[in-house]
Formats: sequence, structure tokens, C-alpha cells
Amino acid sequence: MPNSKRKKKQLKIKRARHTGFCFGVKRAVGIAEDFLNSNKRAYSVGPIIHNPAVVEALSGRGLTVIDNIKRAKGANIVIRSHGISPHLRKRAVALSIGMIDATCPFVDRSHKIVIQLKRESYHIIIVGEADHPEIKALSEVAGKRATVVTTSSGLKRLTLKNKKVAVVAQTTLWRDDFLNIASSILKKGGYEVRIFDTICNDVVQRQAEAKELAGRVDAVLVVGGKISANTRHLAKICRDGRAKTYHVETEKEIRPSWFKGLDSVGVISGASTPDEIVDRVVSKLKIL
Ligand code: SF4
Repeated sequence: MPNSKRKKKQLKIKRARHTGFCFGVKRAVGIAEDFLNSNKRAYSVGPIIHNPAVVEALSGRGLTVIDNIKRAKGANIVIRSHGISPHLRKRAVALSIGMIDATCPFVDRSHKIVIQLKRESYHIIIVGEADHPEIKALSEVAGKRATVVTTSSGLKRLTLKNKKVAVVAQTTLWRDDFLNIASSILKKGGYEVRIFDTICNDVVQRQAEAKELAGRVDAVLVVGGKISANTRHLAKICRDGRAKTYHVETEKEIRPSWFKGLDSVGVISGASTPDEIVDRVVSKLKIL
């Protein structure tokens, strides 16, 4: 049969069940959109969610991202899904800034847990990325007695013997990492150790699905912001599996050469990736 008539092998596409916005991101974007519909302009200190395409779309509707809260003096800020630190909240009040609170209720729950633990004089260990906005705000809520650790090696210098210790996690942490670090903390001889699994259920489901998907396809496309912690964790989980893994923000980054000779590809997304982008990724894969 001539080459031109040989039927092209179709790449099998397996889309994960959990794609698109999580509950907290959907809610935050909805709150921002509702406010902009009636007020036309607002600010967010840092991007409202970690997805450049969504941030750009909201910017076109009047939501300006700022670094310095002073720029919003006398206007309104939308508090992003990652929450706000007490210091920034105080500054907003001092600058007569209106606050539209789009903090995810699960992040808010972590704040409440930490406030209570602080009252009860626990040494609080926050497992997460120190420079992530959620953890910056949470560690400020927890105060001076709190320690942020990202890996078990961060525990080396901590003396917990005979202390009351409480452990909480970044909501978007990789669960296996949290369990490993929590188990290392348990070995450090605290008088009392309380562990709060504050990882969000949506994140846990996506991580489980990423692991499963990476075991049954040749390649996985992880769709989401490059600075999104939960998306990066999904990519790491897939890389640890047997599949080739590519982390893309949109369909424009997809290269046909990635799938040459492959039989199947899985598609999964981070919690701040809208379903429209995942749809476009799948459509592009279909025409490769
Ligand atoms: S990933 Fe979970 S904690 Fe984070 S915004 Fe979404 S629902 Fe909230």
C-alpha cells in the first residue's frame, strides 16, 4: 500500500475525571466577576489565582494586579483564593481600601485551626512552600512560634523534645510529602503531637488520578500555570510514574514531536485551570 494511503495511527486521549477549576478557584473568579460587573474596577495584591490566562482575562474586565497595596488606596481589592495576611489586612484598613473576600473556605479553615493552636500555645509547624502566598499569610497568622518546613531536612535544626507540637499543611501540598514529613516530626520526641491534614480534598483526588493515569498511558500533559503549586505537584507525580510528562499552560505549547510513535496520552489539569483550556488542549491533540 502506498505510504499516503496508510492509515495514520490515532493517538488515544484519556482525559482525567477531575479537570478544570476547583471549587475555591471557581468561587474566587465568580466573586471577582460579580464585583467587576457592578463596580468596573478593583485590584488584587498578586494574581488572584495562579493561571496567567485567567488573570489576563480578568484584567480585561477591570481587575488590576498590583504588588504594593498602596496603589489601591481608597479603592477596592479582591482578596485572592490564597487568603491575606493580618499585616496586609491592617494596611488595607489604614488605607481605606474596601475588601472583597474571595479566600477559599478551605484556606480559611487552616487559618482558624492555626489561630486556635496559637491560643493553646502549640509550636506550630507548617509544611509547605515558604514563598507561596497561602503559606506567607498562614505563617503570619501562626506568629513567631511557627516554623515553615518544605522537606524533612528542614526539621534538622528543630528541637521538639517535650514540646506541644501541631502540624498543618499547605492546602495544595503533595500528600506523600506531607505524610513523610509528619512521620519524621513524630520521631522527634514531642510531648504531644497533633497532625492536621489540611490538604484540600480536590487536590488529593487530582493527585490520585495523576498517579493512576501516569501508570496507564505513554505520556501525560499536565495543564496549568507554571507557578501553580498544585499543578507542579501533579507534574512531579506523573514524572515519578512511567509516563513522559509535559507541563503546559495552554495548547500553544504542545509539540507534535512529543507524541511521535506513542499510543496514548493522558490529560490532567491543575485546580486553577479553566475547563476551556483543557478542552482546547484535547482538541489540539485530536488533530495531531
Ligand atoms: S485547591 Fe482546594 S484549597 Fe485551593 S482554592 Fe481550590 S478548593 Fe480551595
